Amino acid sequence: MVDLKVATLDGKDSVVLEDAVEEFRKSLRGQLIGPDDEGYEEARNVWNGNIDRRPALISRCAGVADVINSVNFARANNLLVAIRGGAHSAAGHGTCDGGIVIDVSQLKGIRVDPENKTIQAQAGVQWGEIDREAEIFGLATTGGVISNTGIAGLTLGGGLGWLMGKHGFTIDNLLSVDVVTVDGRFLKASANENSDLFWGLRGGGGNFGIVTSFEFRLHPTESLVLGGMVIHPLEKAKEVLRFYREFSSSLPDEAEAYLALLTSPDGDAVVALILGYNGPIAEGEKVLEPARKFGEPVMDVVQPMPHSVRNTLLDDPLAIHGIQRYWKSGFTNPISDELIDVAVEAASNFISPLTAIMFFNIHGAAARVSSSETAFGLRREQWDFNIISQWTDAAESERNIAWTREVWGRIEPLISGSAYINHLSGDDKPEKIRASYGENYDRLVALKNKYDPTNMLRLNPNIQPTA
Ligand SMILES: Cc1cc2nc3c(=O)[nH]c(=O)nc-3n(C[C@H](O)[C@H](O)[C@H](O)COP(=O)(O)OP(=O)(O)OC[C@H]3O[C@@H](n4cnc5c(N)ncnc54)[C@H](O)[C@@H]3O)c2cc1C
Repeated sequence: MVDLKVATLDGKDSVVLEDAVEEFRKSLRGQLIGPDDEGYEEARNVWNGNIDRRPALISRCAGVADVINSVNFARANNLLVAIRGGAHSAAGHGTCDGGIVIDVSQLKGIRVDPENKTIQAQAGVQWGEIDREAEIFGLATTGGVISNTGIAGLTLGGGLGWLMGKHGFTIDNLLSVDVVTVDGRFLKASANENSDLFWGLRGGGGNFGIVTSFEFRLHPTESLVLGGMVIHPLEKAKEVLRFYREFSSSLPDEAEAYLALLTSPDGDAVVALILGYNGPIAEGEKVLEPARKFGEPVMDVVQPMPHSVRNTLLDDPLAIHGIQRYWKSGFTNPISDELIDVAVEAASNFISPLTAIMFFNIHGAAARVSSSETAFGLRREQWDFNIISQWTDAAESERNIAWTREVWGRIEPLISGSAYINHLSGDDKPEKIRASYGENYDRLVALKNKYDPTNMLRLNPNIQPTA
């Protein structure tokens, strides 16, 4: 190895001496991977194949000590820092060019306490892993709807999923975290300890420190819950969407209803009602009946299944790492007729069969928490609207991104100017990022001034310090 060229926090190029890198390598229990090392290509890949970045170093942490040593090394060398958990950031925040990636994906410990109904999980765990460990004890908590999303990034942004109507967002079930701050301190944060930090970590994203472990509250769950899709042809999409708007607005906490405009495996554009119920099957059958009886569906595959299986229903192709992607998103309430028209028109002109337009309904317990209770500032009944463009050939990137931007240009005036921070795009403007923290933004800036005044953790929906 020779002296290492790196990118710094000032946006400049610099060099770290070979000896310093070697000393750092020796301080780690996990692997330190550079561009010349075997495994670099695999280690630098993220979920969004359209993000093609080359970090100078990837520190694959094997424990908390590695995280502390990595943070201290990054700070001492003024390195640009990215934090990687499950690598699902569509914006590519989990990697960087020329800096260091502090990769916590190998931290896989999980421990369920069935008696107290809690689960302790390290930062590299994915939602499918939590589901399976909890389910054996008849327990579950709100997590993402795709099985391989990282618990770390998802939780810190809020956490939307199948159980949110009944049990709130993931952050509403977070009891405590272990966190390494940018000055290399190891802290616990909970309602009773470092409570300001705990507040900020529940919706403030990766702005305040590197979380190494999460403790969540679990809830008893039926061994089988209802889940699945009801599919109509795209010609009926406007009627289905207008029905969906009313139906999803009147759901009990136990029910979930999402909607997707997508292309079926046999190539037909379709609209799918994506339904779930978190309670007794017979009760769920009644609640979901109007959505299954509406119109003349071409397919109805709503059926009882374990919660862990329901959390894999949308995995293909969303769980596949490395496909090209571009994702635009925003919150909306109401779903206007104009929004329906533009969304359906866009779906009839999809240029990639992998692209989908999706609505996630936020309601029930997730919407009842006050905006000031956690850093997630936009608590209300609303829909999280998404265009998830996906294609396989990198040569098609320009065309797909241009298509998405053109559609988004027509959608944007019809929805709010804010979004779920975990669905913000890499090219969203600072005003939109700020609006997405809602009325909590100033309090978050004060917290950033306290915990990360130099903005070392800036590859995220960034809260800029003013200190
Ligand atoms: C296919 C797919 C499905 C999704 N489904 C859902 C869903 O159902 N519900 C939902 O709420 N969201 C969902 N999301 C959005 C998801 O919450 C975000 O992409 C989130 O950032 C993913 O976290 P990660 O750890 O996998 O990602 P990474 O790319 O590894 O990390 C993203 C960012 O999170 C922060 N971060 C990660 N780990 C840590 C850590 N240990 N400490 C501090 N900061 C950290 C950093 O800022 C990092 O840049 C989905 C995303 C994808 C791609």
